[in-house]
Amino acid sequence: MRDNDNLVISLNKTNIKYYIKNTRKIKKYCDNRNLNLKLFYDNKLVSEINNEDADLKDMTTIMKAINIKDKSERFNYIYDMICSVLDLKIKEENYCEFKDNICIRDRENQCDHRNGCCECNGRGLCQYLVNGKCQINCISCKLFTCKFLENRGIKQNINDHVLVKYFFSHKQIDILKYSFWTPKEVIIERLLKNKYVRP
Ligand code: SF4
Ligand code: SF4
Repeated sequence: MRDNDNLVISLNKTNIKYYIKNTRKIKKYCDNRNLNLKLFYDNKLVSEINNEDADLKDMTTIMKAINIKDKSERFNYIYDMICSVLDLKIKEENYCEFKDNICIRDRENQCDHRNGCCECNGRGLCQYLVNGKCQINCISCKLFTCKFLENRGIKQNINDHVLVKYFFSHKQIDILKYSFWTPKEVIIERLLKNKYVRP
């Protein structure tokens, strides 16, 4: 339903997944007409509902992203949201299991290589690793899981994130996946230009 400058949708348990799946169409409709999106659930604006339900959380971020009309600001918002979800997952699951700065893959291979993926043959130590901490917010590094982890069933799937799945093209998803060792500002620039550059 249209109400002045808004597209208004009333969500409920039955229709919420349908609307998530139609995010691209809703985004296009709002963008082409310069409309804001207002999503209600039980007569409350979704962003005002304090609920851990995954679909509601997805719909809240979708609404916020659609309502940011400047493309660069929208991409920045999406980037930060995905990074905060990935940071939490990495912290909670601790799947690289660093001990004395040696990750699980290297410990299992009885190798004393330090710094995990932040140091490798050829590239050496990443310039962005300072005092054991990454100084940039590189989404591709956060998404990476090595073969060793994948053989253990640990893999990040970028398309699990609705803000990626429905807001970016295949090429832009490749930019997010493969721009290793790259600062956020540069990745955003690539997304805006829709141009993938091999690192
Ligand atoms: S992704 Fe694999 S190689 Fe890289 S730090 Fe984690 S366990 Fe080590
Ligand atoms: S950019 Fe990637 S490789 Fe470099 S320090 Fe950060 S996480 Fe490590």
